[in-house]
Amino acid sequence: MKDFSLLVELNNAHGPSGREDEVRQILSGVLNPIVDDISFDGLGSLIARFNRHATGPKVAVVAHMDEVGFLIREIRNDGLLKLFKLGGIDPKVAVNSEIEVKTRCGNKFTGLIWTDKPLAELSIDDLWLDVGACSREEVITMGIQIGDSAVFATRHFELNNSGVMIGKAMDDRIGCWVGVELLRSLDKQSLACDLYFVATVQEEVGTKGGKTAIEQLNPDIVIVLDVATAKHLEVKSGAQRLFGQGPCLVVADKMALGHYSLLNYVSDVANEFGIGVQRDFLAGGGTDNGPATLVGSGIAGLAIILPVRNCHSAYTQVNPNDAISCVKLLSHVVTQLDERQTAHLYSYC
Ligand SMILES: [Zn+2]
Repeated sequence: MKDFSLLVELNNAHGPSGREDEVRQILSGVLNPIVDDISFDGLGSLIARFNRHATGPKVAVVAHMDEVGFLIREIRNDGLLKLFKLGGIDPKVAVNSEIEVKTRCGNKFTGLIWTDKPLAELSIDDLWLDVGACSREEVITMGIQIGDSAVFATRHFELNNSGVMIGKAMDDRIGCWVGVELLRSLDKQSLACDLYFVATVQEEVGTKGGKTAIEQLNPDIVIVLDVATAKHLEVKSGAQRLFGQGPCLVVADKMALGHYSLLNYVSDVANEFGIGVQRDFLAGGGTDNGPATLVGSGIAGLAIILPVRNCHSAYTQVNPNDAISCVKLLSHVVTQLDERQTAHLYSYC
């Protein structure tokens, strides 16, 4: 059984878009003894080089550090707070949630979101955050300012000894966990590629780190790890995203097409090693693979999605088997990615 203690720590960290400091600190700490070099892009994305003596194609495995959340937008005279959304949170899902507010000094306060409007008509402007204060002055005395961040307050837990894990920030801390576990599982001397793990910022507000970090690194191959809401039943189109049925190779999403040769290469590796994968389409969204694949003259990129339940809520569920399969798949994929294989992916005539 894999050790998920790092995932617990990552999930409980406070890290909405633009405020990824706690996540970056945890990842820097665990990566330091594993990798040879850690650098950062201008927005704060972390770029970890596995082996500084490596030659061969540059391969970037990417996951975003940020989670959906809020910024404090307004402090009202009655002590209630108005919110600005970071990422795609449905206001209906946020109602009655326990929230963690973090101040500039690092103090954390609990808040509750409520509304006096019918759920069907709800917008973000109809939500109130109550931190227990009765006046604006009380809020300010607590140290809370406009611009401070807030996230769902859920602590990581397992659902009835089922193995299914729940956290507020599985999107995309599970991807960060897979990235670290991948490096832990590899022997850096035997790799024929120059491998990087890139933990990006601000994915939830427009895949920002996916552009800046990949521009800085300029790799030959990009593999983006992310999550998306699982389907309950097999869908008729043949596209699948079933919970517990393995990682999903994204054929196309709103922002990018999976590089066809890379998609087929990863599929072939999965078949060769008997790792179950699904093929998927993300009709409504994109990942860091969107901007990453358009860097320079274009980079062969593929998004690999883990199916989750209750995405962008206080309780996002992950099946551990999907995450473990993803680590196995990636370790075989990067082990076989050498000069020859990469040249083959880029042969267009
Ligand atoms: Zn995500």
